Amino acid sequence: MDITRILAPNPGPFTGAGTNSYIVSSQGQAVVVDPGPEIDSHLEGIRTALADFVMVGVLVTHHHLDHSPAANLLAAEYGVPSYGFGSYGGFQAISAVADGDGVHVGTEVIAVLHTPGHTPDSMCYAVGNGVFTGDTIKSGTTVVVEDMSAYMTTLQRLADLAPARIYPGHGNVIDDPQAVLAEYIAHRRQREQQVVVALGGGPITTAGVVAAVYPGLDASLIPLATLSADAHLRKLAAEGRVSQTGEKWALD
Ligand SMILES: [Zn+2]
Repeated sequence: MDITRILAPNPGPFTGAGTNSYIVSSQGQAVVVDPGPEIDSHLEGIRTALADFVMVGVLVTHHHLDHSPAANLLAAEYGVPSYGFGSYGGFQAISAVADGDGVHVGTEVIAVLHTPGHTPDSMCYAVGNGVFTGDTIKSGTTVVVEDMSAYMTTLQRLADLAPARIYPGHGNVIDDPQAVLAEYIAHRRQREQQVVVALGGGPITTAGVVAAVYPGLDASLIPLATLSADAHLRKLAAEGRVSQTGEKWALD
């Protein structure tokens, strides 16, 4: 099996140097993981990398516009399925896959993991001793989390999987996944504890939590910090540890 990374030219605050598209090949067959945005030069790069193989499918980690738009275009061009969560957020995989499914390429079987947290439709794909994580794990840029409870479960699940390598949706390939996953888990637990401490002073708004947890934060980063604080607060609320009255959150 070979894995080739092709970097899309869409750098930015959330995409780092750009989206990583990957070609997984085995025994003359290949699949593409996250073909990314519809950028001609990027698509040409993918087509060139596929030239020596029989293309058998496109795998999509989630619907976000830096990951999915070229998927069905390439799938149609090669007459193969796109695989993913199904229909979510404006992207529809031709072939919906679920946790525990397998996608064959050559003699390899790519295992499908449903790993919600970053988004409800986030999937990871494990093959050999590696795993493709989309935006669930990135290197170099922050992961925005929609559902913190689900995300913590997903992080633990990836740690239990104990891959030797993580192929992230953005940034460099990760050669020390256990250290990185432990760091991710520790970071989120620490943030949660900071949110609890902020609430210890009495009822407080989400903006108040952001100000307490991220003192001196650049104004441009406040929307992102607000999403993160909100995800932590909703997790704590789901666990019955905090509740919201009007605009303010308080410890139960
Ligand atoms: Zn994303």
